[in-house]
Amino acid sequence: MSRLRGNRSGAQGRPEDSRSGAQARGRLAPTPSGYLHLGNARSFLLAWLWARHDGGSVIMRVEDIDRPRCKPELREAALEELQWLGLDWSQGPHAGDPVGEFDQQTRTELYRGYLQQLAGAGLAYPCTCSRKDIEQASSAPHGEEGAVYPGTCRDRWESFEQAEAESGIRPAWRFRWETDAVSFQDQLQGDVTVDPSTLGDFVLWRRDDLPSYQLAVSVDDALMGVTQVLRGRDLLTSTARQLALYRALGLNAPSQWAHVPFLQDAEGRRMAKRDGDLALAHLRETGVSHERIVGFAAWSAGLTSELAPTAPADLISNFNLSAINKEDFVVTDEHLTWLHA
Ligand code: GLU
Ligand code: ZN
Repeated sequence: MSRLRGNRSGAQGRPEDSRSGAQARGRLAPTPSGYLHLGNARSFLLAWLWARHDGGSVIMRVEDIDRPRCKPELREAALEELQWLGLDWSQGPHAGDPVGEFDQQTRTELYRGYLQQLAGAGLAYPCTCSRKDIEQASSAPHGEEGAVYPGTCRDRWESFEQAEAESGIRPAWRFRWETDAVSFQDQLQGDVTVDPSTLGDFVLWRRDDLPSYQLAVSVDDALMGVTQVLRGRDLLTSTARQLALYRALGLNAPSQWAHVPFLQDAEGRRMAKRDGDLALAHLRETGVSHERIVGFAAWSAGLTSELAPTAPADLISNFNLSAINKEDFVVTDEHLTWLHA
């Protein structure tokens, strides 16, 4: 079925030209700092199904702002493996394509412009604190995400240049987060309210002169016309940060959010790069079919009642976002045996 393949007709398209009125638009946003694993495949499948079920389109965006950690061969592997699974997208790179406008590494100056907008409005400030400074200064209990930045540099420096000259290090930029609580509705987790003081002023621009994830992803989701975001539940609080940024920048935020649970490895840990056996590349090399991976992903998420090989396109019509399990799912040896059958 050709509609299952990556659609290579036409150019990658310009991100800024891709707004499309009310039409649903989802995105796949891999970070090529490691090989994709089964858990990544499952989240991407769910994001794709949601957009397709809503009659919408899907874009591919390569989140490689963390240049030191991302590798061209990992980008190529991710694109190729997602196409192999049967996912497609109408904009953004396919396997074999050169780096272009849907690869975040090409968009640094665009992000810098938005940083400057925030700085000009007094909503960004230079910060010279090290991780250790923050841990020592933070009196708040350390949350899941580590020490909360206590705002040490909020009113400490006159300018970036002064901060750099006096501290002798290149400062980061942080967001001056002064709004009240941020609330949004998550399609799976329900109503979410986040008090900014529990997260603290977050980094917009890193000390190594790279944009932060929060800034890049907000700018891109807005400019690329993304209307719905489905991603791992670890990013639930980041949605609050991003909503604060959309407001501060006057950009249109995606209107629908869904934060999905994880696959866990046999030790009950969230699947990660260390689980090399569960890398798509490894599964594929050892003979696992894409139909089995897709069938397992859909079944383990609660979308199908029977574990059976299938293709993404065959799951579109019956897709139901609210049927997705709320709990993480542990992948056992039995499941691996089924995948390898
Ligand atoms: N690139 C991120 C990841 O691979 C996803 C970020 C997002 O979906 O906003 O974890
Ligand atoms: Zn600081």
